[in-house]
Amino acid sequence: MLKVKNLHASVEDKAIIKGLNLEVNPGEVHAIMGPNGAGKSTLGYVLSGRDGYEVTDGDMTLNDANLLDMEVEERARAGMFLAFQYPVEIPGVSNMEFMKESVNAMREERGEDPLTAAEFLKKAKAACKQVQLPLDFLKRGVNEGFSGGEKKRNEIMQMILLEPSLCILDESDSGLDIDALQVVADGVNSQRDGKRSFIVVTHYQRLLDYIKPDFVHILADGEIVKSGDASLALEVEKHGYAFLGKKYEEAE
Ligand code: ADP
Ligand code: MG
Ligand code: MG
Repeated sequence: MLKVKNLHASVEDKAIIKGLNLEVNPGEVHAIMGPNGAGKSTLGYVLSGRDGYEVTDGDMTLNDANLLDMEVEERARAGMFLAFQYPVEIPGVSNMEFMKESVNAMREERGEDPLTAAEFLKKAKAACKQVQLPLDFLKRGVNEGFSGGEKKRNEIMQMILLEPSLCILDESDSGLDIDALQVVADGVNSQRDGKRSFIVVTHYQRLLDYIKPDFVHILADGEIVKSGDASLALEVEKHGYAFLGKKYEEAE
């Protein structure tokens, strides 16, 4: 599904991703951990094609399509969902209108009929319930005045409604309470269907108590320096990033 080969990427001419390789197959959940400043969030942005993130070398393909040739919107239509893609407030546009348009654009891309207003409302209400957001969130302006936890629930609701094939979640910097963390985990687990893939970036091992990853990768200084199964996350929790050397031991 996703193939990243020898990826090098820069932000403002500063090299951040330095020769990263990653392959994600359908249905797999990959966790990416690593010390602060390792480049975890940058990797998410580069994959999604955010402005200002320049790929200087390497390849990345999604279902054999060259991501480097695709704009942000094209990557989204190709099935990539980045949880922090829509954090902006759009006052005056209701969450409901915004999501209905986005969902129907995705359906069109997949060759499916658009949902009617009633069909969408039914799905949206179910998704709202699943992430424990009151129904009036559908009527509110997109992200307008949402708290951190509400934004997070809203993101997961978007993920559930959009039915993407590759979801990228970045939980590194969010001061999530345990309830919101649980919503993220439940959202991911409910969407695991053997085909949909996930990249979960996290700073906290505890998220991985709820989301059982198939693979765990440690990102340090722009490269994946160690990969393993879920037990690698436990090792990191116990011993920190000491195995990376003194520099990271101090940073943590
Ligand atoms: P992580 O998510 O692993 O904590 P980031 O991807 O946020 O790390 O950042 C990786 C490195 O890139 C850090 O050293 C950070 O300071 C730097 N960086 C990120 N964004 C920018 C930017 N816009 N301009 C300059 N440096 C940046
Ligand atoms: Mg950070
Ligand atoms: Mg980060």
